[in-house]
Amino acid sequence: QIGALPMPDGPGGGQPNVVLFLRDLTAARRLEAMRVDFVANASHELRTPLASLLGFIETLQGPAKADAPAREKFLGIMKTQAQRMTRLIDDLLSLSRIELREHVPPTQVVDLGQIARQMVDMQGPLARERGVSITLDAPDATYPVLGERDELARVVENLVENAVKYGGGNVVVGLERTLRPASGKPQIALSVRDDGPGIAPEHIPRLTERFYRVDVASSRQKGGTGLGLAIVKHIVNRHRGKLVIESEPDRGTTVRALLPERQAGDETSTTL
Ligand code: ADP
Repeated sequence: QIGALPMPDGPGGGQPNVVLFLRDLTAARRLEAMRVDFVANASHELRTPLASLLGFIETLQGPAKADAPAREKFLGIMKTQAQRMTRLIDDLLSLSRIELREHVPPTQVVDLGQIARQMVDMQGPLARERGVSITLDAPDATYPVLGERDELARVVENLVENAVKYGGGNVVVGLERTLRPASGKPQIALSVRDDGPGIAPEHIPRLTERFYRVDVASSRQKGGTGLGLAIVKHIVNRHRGKLVIESEPDRGTTVRALLPERQAGDETSTTL
């Protein structure tokens, strides 16, 4: 947008001065289009299980009223649909909460090693039931970062859940100290690797978009909302980190969160 504003009190010897302003509306339009898309997608995702619920309620009120086995079966399906809506609403709320805080850097000192260990212990038994093993590869005693504990636990949880759901085989949660290539500053690489079917390269840049899924039916059937990696990305951004997804079809996927390591002079509110 280009415009001109007359300035009445300019030092131009009685001549009115004019200020030209230039404003980039493309960025604003893009943001607005994303917001509209997001609302449309969220409504659609909620409408689908809701339509199914209403259908089953009508069937239970009519044709299946006296059919006890059918009633039992339909109630089971209705419960799954209601759980799906709950998960979606929980994820939508998490996303908006994280977005609100995205510009406030966290100040607690958190040990990523402890979070990763707890997550592996928690998710290991369930994964084993599905024939997937989860191991931790973290040789050092601690991996301190400035962070928000719950948010970082969410990152590990989402990545491990995805590796178990879509990958499988042997899932390895790794922690490693490295240096940032540009600045040489120390960072901690938290990685989750699986040796499942992998992801075709054309999908990779879009995986952190809200509601983007490689296979919508498979994600829904596995209880996915399509928001997991969007949530992970926002949390990593808030922690001044970087998310890197690497995958090779038929070989597996590695997702890495690269987070700045806590330094002695960092502003903190609590200690380890
Ligand atoms: P969802 O709720 O569907 O799991 P995510 O945002 O967590 O949503 O992931 C987006 C999509 O990325 C998934 O639907 C799946 O297709 C793909 N994906 C994520 N992690 C993996 C993985 N480890 N292996 C293969 N595909 C994956």
